[in-house]
Amino acid sequence: MNNLQSGIRGDPNYEETEGMNYEPVIGLEVHAQLLTRTKLFCSCSTQFGNEPNANTCPVCFGLPGVLPVLNRRVVEFAIRAGLATNCQITRKNIFARKNYFYPDLPKGYQISQYENPICTKGWIDIEVKGEKRRIGLTRIHMEEDAGKLLHEHPVSRSKAASWVDLNRAGVPLLEIVSEPDIRLPEEGVVYLKELRRILMYLDVCDGNMEEGSLRCDANISIRPVGTKKFGTKVEIKNMNSFRHIEKALYYEIKRQTEVLKGGGTTAQETRLWDPEREVSESMRSKEEAHDYRYFPDPDLLPVEIDERWIEKIQSNLPELPQKKRDRFIKQFQLSPAQAEVLIETGEIASFFEQMLQKYPDSKKLANWIINSPFPVTKLNPDHLTKVLTLVDAGTLSSNMAKEVLQKVYETGRPPEEVIEKEGLTQVSDTAALEAAINEAISENPKEVERFRGGEEKLFAFFLGQVMKKTKGKANPKIVADLLRKKIGR
Ligand code: ADP
Ligand code: ZN
Ligand code: MG
Repeated sequence: MNNLQSGIRGDPNYEETEGMNYEPVIGLEVHAQLLTRTKLFCSCSTQFGNEPNANTCPVCFGLPGVLPVLNRRVVEFAIRAGLATNCQITRKNIFARKNYFYPDLPKGYQISQYENPICTKGWIDIEVKGEKRRIGLTRIHMEEDAGKLLHEHPVSRSKAASWVDLNRAGVPLLEIVSEPDIRLPEEGVVYLKELRRILMYLDVCDGNMEEGSLRCDANISIRPVGTKKFGTKVEIKNMNSFRHIEKALYYEIKRQTEVLKGGGTTAQETRLWDPEREVSESMRSKEEAHDYRYFPDPDLLPVEIDERWIEKIQSNLPELPQKKRDRFIKQFQLSPAQAEVLIETGEIASFFEQMLQKYPDSKKLANWIINSPFPVTKLNPDHLTKVLTLVDAGTLSSNMAKEVLQKVYETGRPPEEVIEKEGLTQVSDTAALEAAINEAISENPKEVERFRGGEEKLFAFFLGQVMKKTKGKANPKIVADLLRKKIGR
């Protein structure tokens, strides 16, 4: 973002220009692919990465005479997501046809929801740079995904035509639309990360942005600071990482600001982000925008959701990330930053709590988990407990423990075996240490004199000598005590 001078509050490259300060207004539309085994309206598999068109049937192909059959699990997932984001749940749900023509959409319409989406009026709380913000959710609705065009044949590699893969056609999605409550690109990213984390905690979406399980379109306009009226919004598509989203938003803020500063007006349009060149380009203007001619799908009955179903889903919701973080801070005396790392996924959080049953020092445990260079949840909790206990007993130094854990992680062998094989215990045996200390003393008589004469810093020199002689395996605390006794004044 170095070369941006947007004139925008919060932009590090903000340039003060009298009377020319603009504020961005951002609303995000997220598509989350649901973790159901089967599609929204047929029993085809949703599995990613299969051979093109392996996961298809006449419903996926939109052949005449077939009827869609609703996957109830999708409704349940939508309710889960809605309850977790403070939404109201719509009791009577109607599926609508959204009509448009594209080769990856064989029916010529997408089944979606239009009026009365399943969830409305929710919110997600976020904190950006110490400031708490509440981002409203306009709606969450259920819809089916389209297929995919391949511009290169998957086997022959020919580029003579485009091919259609309908594996993704009919895969269930939630579209989650935010209010235009976001004011900075960073805020948008924090909102998205929080939303992603919630969906992952709920086990409704795997959150994989690279594979497209979580996709985001951004709507953005700018307005003079202090004014209320929204500017003309531009929609940006094709950003598949948090980094791209932040860059694309800053780019767009800069672009719109320059247009307005130059006395022009921004056009309502859809733009595509090019992550290579880091620019966005106009895809279509409002005039070319689709008229989708929504109407209720006559092949699908309205879905009635009763109170008892909602209550049951509510009572089965997991503890959500922010609540868990606050509890971890209070219950385990962790810093907010530590707690934040430990609750990043439900998996790490439950590993931490499971470990506490065996190893109750929450702060030490938190540090080990947070600083682990590999996914610590892959360790057997008994193995980790064993190693941490050996550190506390002085048998392993923390560096040795790291080495042991790395080997345990790589080989799956129990720590006792690794320690024995690698000879990795710390020497706490006084007799062995005394021999090394005596050697260090007799080899360095001058230094002993100087130390006794008051040169305290030579103590570290002797410590170093002993560590060298024991190849770093001496227990430093015991060495220090023994050394003091031998050469101390
Ligand atoms: P559309 O009908 O074009 O889909 P919506 O009103 O449904 O527009 O809004 C789509 C998204 O754009 C929402 O996330 C909303 O918060 C956001 N949005 C609406 N108006 C603006 C605006 N003026 N500036 C920025 N974002 C906006
Ligand atoms: Zn199918
Ligand atoms: Mg819309």
